[in-house]
Amino acid sequence: MPFSSTSATIQLLGKRSNMPEQFETINPATGEVLAKLPDMDRADVRKAVDQARGAFNHWGSLKISQRCDYLREVRQNIVRSTDEIMDLICSETGKPPTEALLNEILVASELIEFYLKEAPRALSPTRTSPGMLMNKKAYKLYKPLGVVGVISPWNYPFTLTMTPVVTALFAGNTVVLKPSEITPLVGLKVGELVTSCGFPDIVKVVTGKGPTGAALIEEGVDMVAFTGSVATGKKVAVGCAERLIPCLLELGGKDPMIVCEDADLDRAANACVWGAFTNAGQTCISVERVYVSEKVYDKFVDKVVGRTGKLKLGTDVGSMTFPPQIEKVEAHVADAVNKGAKILTGGTRSHYGDGLTNNMYYEPTVLVDVDNSMEIMTEETFGPVLPIVKFSTDDEAIRLANDSKYGLSSSVFSKSPARRRRIAEELDAGSVSVNDCLMSYAISSLPFGGVKESGLGRAHGVEGLYQFSKVKGVAEDRVGLKNDPQWFPKRSTIESLVKRFMSLRYSKGIARVSGAFLGNSGKASSKETSKV
Ligand code: NAD
Repeated sequence: MPFSSTSATIQLLGKRSNMPEQFETINPATGEVLAKLPDMDRADVRKAVDQARGAFNHWGSLKISQRCDYLREVRQNIVRSTDEIMDLICSETGKPPTEALLNEILVASELIEFYLKEAPRALSPTRTSPGMLMNKKAYKLYKPLGVVGVISPWNYPFTLTMTPVVTALFAGNTVVLKPSEITPLVGLKVGELVTSCGFPDIVKVVTGKGPTGAALIEEGVDMVAFTGSVATGKKVAVGCAERLIPCLLELGGKDPMIVCEDADLDRAANACVWGAFTNAGQTCISVERVYVSEKVYDKFVDKVVGRTGKLKLGTDVGSMTFPPQIEKVEAHVADAVNKGAKILTGGTRSHYGDGLTNNMYYEPTVLVDVDNSMEIMTEETFGPVLPIVKFSTDDEAIRLANDSKYGLSSSVFSKSPARRRRIAEELDAGSVSVNDCLMSYAISSLPFGGVKESGLGRAHGVEGLYQFSKVKGVAEDRVGLKNDPQWFPKRSTIESLVKRFMSLRYSKGIARVSGAFLGNSGKASSKETSKV
């Protein structure tokens, strides 16, 4: 697969007198070695953090409008480089070009578009109600944290790297990025796209494996934004706890889909096949379990199996990316079959490409007769496998869907607004797509993240910007008395006045009495405005 940026990106690493250990990045679809890159050590990481710290002094002091101007140019840089980015993503992941374009480059560009519109308002000082203290002005200020360490995974190496990087930058931080060792060239490209518009040190990229990521947490960053597995996420959380720095953890999932008997079955079946098999199932919010009403179960399963059988490897479903991942898929399917599950289609590696490939393609697979004694129903599979289960009542469907240690995303299909709304509210997950799947991620204004073991914190939306900010509360006196009533010396009347104030303010039937004590109107508003 051609890609022209390798030499340029490798130069980004800089020259070293003592060459470090190297690791290879490989095209999983062909087995071709794409590049050898330095496995950076603690000293390299420290240097990158120092450089990003230096850049923060300037970047962090810019006005939000100036940061937006720069990031608009970065977005144009992405648009100009689309073909090159697509080639690079496909080379390192094995995914089809359309998926690289739609699910990675477009989604990341849209997030920048959203923040270009929303960040100036969201990050401006925001006035809020002072409550009973109407003699004060209250407002919130949003300040950058400093240098953010971004540690990213291989499954969507562009969008899941660009997202935390640009969000951190909009909020005024600079970044040290440790991309996955499986897809480092895409990570280097992200760094190049962002820095080549004129701020060379606002994103420093360190290449390497797990220990390089662990060093990044220890070497002075002010926050870590981690996307990856639950097991690594727990280690990252411990590392951040040791330094008492905040972390955003975007972790794994086992996302359920519920299909009620009144659903549009064609739409639900098409969504389910796409949601389970796009990116060869290596999506954190893949449809990994489907619960279908027993009244339409047979019809739905037929539709899903029919559509799955028509998928073309290489065009619709790419190769898997990471060799241990395909072995995990095989182990989950074998465990399910040993415990009584039935394979309706797929179930094996494919020899797509006349044996010229790296044998990393796995046939899209549909399983039935599954239950929670099987890993395929309880552990994240992260591959093109779709187990289907029947339910009899909505309560049972909700109980089964919530019976998981994960809670990333979820979906529900029903034609009844009340029914689908109720199920959406009851699903214990960070997001829900209704009569749809995976789309909660593509809507940049919606916060994204998990509950339970699927993570901590939120990316996307204005919540994402606040995740990367220090929020400062400011109380400002606006009356200018020489001495406020609660200050020294203690007044003998204060206790009786406060008691009278409380009984009036919190009495049933008296809506807003806040002025008895402080002599104000009591019309405190809960609305916030961005003018201070
Ligand atoms: P991973 O946890 O193996 O690795 C993620 C990153 O962490 C890599 O860059 C890796 O080098 C680094 N790392 C490894 N050990 C480390 C350590 N001790 N300290 C610091 N960093 C370390 O995950 P992966 O295999 O790259 O990605 C797949 C997983 O990511 C799946 O579980 C998937 O569900 C999850 N994921 C979650 C989201 C989300 O938004 N919630 C998105 C995509 C992927």
